[in-house]
Amino acid sequence: MSDGDLGMPVLDNHLHLDPRHARGVEAVKDFARVGGTHLLVVNKPSWHLGVEAVEPEDFRAVFEETLDAVADATEALPGRAWPVLGVHPGLISRLVDERGFSPEEARDLMRGGLEVAAEFVADGRALALKSGRPHYDVSDAVWGASNAVTKHAFELGAERDCAVQLHTEASEDLTELAEWAEARGLPARKVVKHYASGRLRGPTPSVMSEKDRLLTAAEAGEPFLMETDFVDDPDKPGMVLGPKTVPRRTRWLLEEGYEAAMRTAHVETPHEVYGIDTEATLDR
Ligand SMILES: [Zn+2]
Repeated sequence: MSDGDLGMPVLDNHLHLDPRHARGVEAVKDFARVGGTHLLVVNKPSWHLGVEAVEPEDFRAVFEETLDAVADATEALPGRAWPVLGVHPGLISRLVDERGFSPEEARDLMRGGLEVAAEFVADGRALALKSGRPHYDVSDAVWGASNAVTKHAFELGAERDCAVQLHTEASEDLTELAEWAEARGLPARKVVKHYASGRLRGPTPSVMSEKDRLLTAAEAGEPFLMETDFVDDPDKPGMVLGPKTVPRRTRWLLEEGYEAAMRTAHVETPHEVYGIDTEATLDR
């Protein structure tokens, strides 16, 4: 075993890679060097890649760019990376506040973008969808439109039998969202709240890998995932956790005796939520 080998798969459930503007595969190598094995790479918000979407097809270039980054990441990993594709919920504010869209027009564009993302899932080129609603205060019309977009993501997830990662307001009780998913045929466990704290009712939490949040999740004995939300943006180096964080926190939790919780986060929950096998896809 090399220094970085933790003797088990180690998955970061939500990060971004931007090889065109930032570190890209170099960040992946950092992750792998300290024991990271698998990644779920979420496309960056479209406008961060210079795409001001007018029609749903405009999202395709953003998704293709993410697929390229994922292929390069897989080359650099002892396991592999998978893409998670969708439309960032913050886009609605950009469309409505800065580009003259009505909330309904923005809703339709974002739902269309998710349909394009779902095509990639149907083709086996992406693993899951990403949707959600703003974490900041918005008008009732924008809130309603955002919820309509999220519900459509649940419909598409049910249709394609794939998980849906959500960006939402900070909360430890999102049972209503889980119910919306279940009502559309998507099991609550396949709804993943990204940037979660250590406990959550409703969806599966993807816990931000800060020590206190992780201890809460590890003690709870419930399914959970671990993430950094690394944004790979040279202008925001300190905004989120770095790419080494999940392997380092995993090592620390293993040392603290949380082997079962680490199997939950890196093997069992990924299998339950996404149907992926992080052990069979690990090549040492
Ligand atoms: Zn993110």
